[in-house]
Amino acid sequence: MATDQPPDELEPRLAVIVDALHRKGADDPTCPACGHAALELADETFFMQAITPGGEIAFTGETADGFEVAAMLCGHCGHIRLHHLSKLVRD
Ligand SMILES: [Zn+2]
Repeated sequence: MATDQPPDELEPRLAVIVDALHRKGADDPTCPACGHAALELADETFFMQAITPGGEIAFTGETADGFEVAAMLCGHCGHIRLHHLSKLVRD
């Protein structure tokens, strides 16, 4: 369960994401929707599912089409900012 207190030690996967956000200058905690400094990295990553032009969930064979995202959540207004994970952590 998420808490308002930062963990003593981030799990390695989250530490890589935090490092990439900092390295790329994308770690400003200011929410673009409400202006509060309340953006925090979600504990989990998510899968952004692709949709076909006909409105169906897209698959290649049995594999869902889409990409993994890291989410920054605003603790004040609930705004969600997403980062394409493989593009965020490369370089
Ligand atoms: Zn907000």
